[in-house]
Amino acid sequence: MSGLETAKRIVVKVGSALLIGDNDAGADRAWLAAFASDVARLRARGQQVLVVSSGAVGLGRRRLGLLRRALTLPEKQAAAAAGQSALMRAWEEAFEPHGAIAAQVLLTRDDTEVRRRWLNARATVDTLLALGVIPVVNENDTVVTEEIRYGDNDRLAARVAQMIGADVLVLLSDVDGLYTADPRNNPDARHLARLSRLTPEIEAMAGGANASAGVGTGGMATKLAAARIAQSAGCATVITLGRRPAPLAALEAGERSTIIEPSTTPAAAYKAWIAGSLAPAGALVVDAGAAAALKRGKSLLAAGVREVQGRFDKGDAVVVRDEAGHEVARGLIRYEAGDALRIRGLKSQAVEQALGYTSGPMIHADDLALSHGREEPPASAGFEPAPQGA
Ligand code: GLU
Repeated sequence: MSGLETAKRIVVKVGSALLIGDNDAGADRAWLAAFASDVARLRARGQQVLVVSSGAVGLGRRRLGLLRRALTLPEKQAAAAAGQSALMRAWEEAFEPHGAIAAQVLLTRDDTEVRRRWLNARATVDTLLALGVIPVVNENDTVVTEEIRYGDNDRLAARVAQMIGADVLVLLSDVDGLYTADPRNNPDARHLARLSRLTPEIEAMAGGANASAGVGTGGMATKLAAARIAQSAGCATVITLGRRPAPLAALEAGERSTIIEPSTTPAAAYKAWIAGSLAPAGALVVDAGAAAALKRGKSLLAAGVREVQGRFDKGDAVVVRDEAGHEVARGLIRYEAGDALRIRGLKSQAVEQALGYTSGPMIHADDLALSHGREEPPASAGFEPAPQGA
């Protein structure tokens, strides 16, 4: 069981080798059409699917006639610009017969590592998923420079899975999983079907001759790096063969794959990260009613906030205390300190009037970790490395 059948949110990473056929014709439309049906089947079951798609540079090279030689960085970035639009056209055409809309989301590393940008990207992707749209994510290759790149879409896919609290990350690959050695030249190579821990031995296997197994930017080493990120974010990683018409159906039918189990749940990982890994930038003192509501799993509304302390920005972590000074919770605040001060004590309807905008509650229940009776965060503290303060 890959967990695919029961997952609520699934991220599928599709590499360039799958998307681009062997000829110079561009995207492999037959594969894309079959894959889109495969995704449509999951959506019909009520599951949300996000695709991380490579192929911008490859398609752009074909479009611009830049196939025959190594490219300079600006040429590669130009190819990505020309290829990304072709890539999206191919995805849109593939999903259209299923009545599904594909939406382009281009991210840079900061979007998943700087907390404020991360929260913003998360809100957008959440909204797309709630609208029934299929986000198609790629790195914004046209503007990122070498130093600030993810560089490979395996890791990008894991970061996105972490960001949206996905349950399963499927890395479609040109190999059907992890082996103890490179199966192409070692008859003794043993397939690994399920791993609950990524031990140094396993890392060593993927880091040796196996490291570059596979086409595309990411070999086995980057797949494991992705799995490590996903694991501590509560997301299972499945590495399986992509080059078949319906790779997700094949997975459900029990075709070979390697499953790397999560070490926690997405919600627990996220809350452990809020509770344990972030230095609070300020504090809110709340009245007894609000403190009780928080303990029942409710959001913190401006109306219940008595005092605002410290200088913090939107998206920063703050401590929530009751009037006796006891810590009740920690959470990510949706207003910067000045605005929080202005709306303290106000009813929700008055917030927009006071500020000219509203971001909803001071702290949403999803972004709150209760301080009493909470489990101690695991040593890995969930998110690794934690998105840093803006
Ligand atoms: N973002 C790159 C592209 O679209 C691909 C990176 C990768 O495949 O890992 O061409």
